[in-house]
Amino acid sequence: MHLTSPWRQHFPCFELFDQQGVTYLDSAATAQKPHILLQVLQQHYASGVANVHRAQHALANRITAELEQARATVLQWLGATDNDQLIFTKGATDALNLVCHGLSHLFQPGDEIAVSLYEHHANLIPWQQLCQRLQLKLVVLPFNSSGALDPIAAKQLITPNTKLLALSPLSNVFGITQDLTPTLQHAKQCGALRVLDCTQYAVHQRIDQQLLQHCDFLALSSHKLFGPDGVGILWASQAQHSLLHPYQFGGEMVAHCSIEQSSFLPAPLGFEPGTPNIAGILAFAKVLQWLADLDQTAIQHYEQALHQQLIEGLEQRAVKFAGSPNCALASFSHPQVHSADIATLLAEQGVAIRAGSHCAQPLLKALGAEQGLLRVSLGFYNDSQDLTRFFSAYDAALELLL
Ligand code: PMP
Repeated sequence: MHLTSPWRQHFPCFELFDQQGVTYLDSAATAQKPHILLQVLQQHYASGVANVHRAQHALANRITAELEQARATVLQWLGATDNDQLIFTKGATDALNLVCHGLSHLFQPGDEIAVSLYEHHANLIPWQQLCQRLQLKLVVLPFNSSGALDPIAAKQLITPNTKLLALSPLSNVFGITQDLTPTLQHAKQCGALRVLDCTQYAVHQRIDQQLLQHCDFLALSSHKLFGPDGVGILWASQAQHSLLHPYQFGGEMVAHCSIEQSSFLPAPLGFEPGTPNIAGILAFAKVLQWLADLDQTAIQHYEQALHQQLIEGLEQRAVKFAGSPNCALASFSHPQVHSADIATLLAEQGVAIRAGSHCAQPLLKALGAEQGLLRVSLGFYNDSQDLTRFFSAYDAALELLL
């Protein structure tokens, strides 16, 4: 079946890509941007700017109100309540560092932090460094042959010693959906705080109240969700947000500052020192509203069908898959040819996919794939023709390399 995306027309870059012969299959790295994003940026910068939460003049008041409206929009998109906290950050990495530093006062030497072996470096290294600094133990949860978290091992390894669990529901390497609820419930019973890295998950699966009920903190990036670069969020539950301590300091987060000491505003402003990416935040909120108005069921079915075509094409070529991908992407290698060589020859033919360690070096080591994996990742703007171009470029590359 030939799949064409009704959503492709919303993304201006594809007209250019078609002229240039570019096929973009690297959306897990970053997603292309819809018209609405450009419209918001244009309107924002053309209407006169002001800083937020500072001045008394009308322009500043309007833009402050717009920023706070954007915060409410993102909370609503998440299915969160108004009492939950939403802190704007520079991205998922920044949000995960914020929660890691912000909770560091809770740990005692010997406490345990659990992460999966498939975490992106952004949800691994902050915890690893914290463990080294505070003499905590980093407990690594294994995955099964499909690439999902092994729930039985997780249940054994998460104990009352576990003070925090940091997990991603959708890995940027495996591309497999999974129900983490039992593991998250077990972690709660053990008294652990739960941090979810939803950077990839949020693009392909809806975040809802049910997921939020099973975590305490949640991080994601705007740019993977068709929004601008340099914006992310840290959501914190009503119950646990007061555990966070500020970790970056400066203007506009301060309740009182004397030369000897300072006190800080409560969340969210106490965690947003300095001038935020105002235009980016406004554009992100509008992109989320635009996304929410699209037919989510149709998008999910379309993505699944396209993913199936990707998997079938790769199976015909007898690649070695990492796990059993069922969503969004596929990571794989060729039994004889180096991934970087294939990606280079694909790039020469205008096909953008990614080769390398995908910011998950411990995972690649565990898979025995230190030399790197190829990854094809899909957006709902991709279509069957993109896959046809990819497969013919792949076949041509292998003909040269074998
Ligand atoms: N977590 C996951 C699962 C990711 O895929 C990424 C981005 N590749 C990140 C975290 C980090 O996101 P960012 O680079 O936008 O901070």
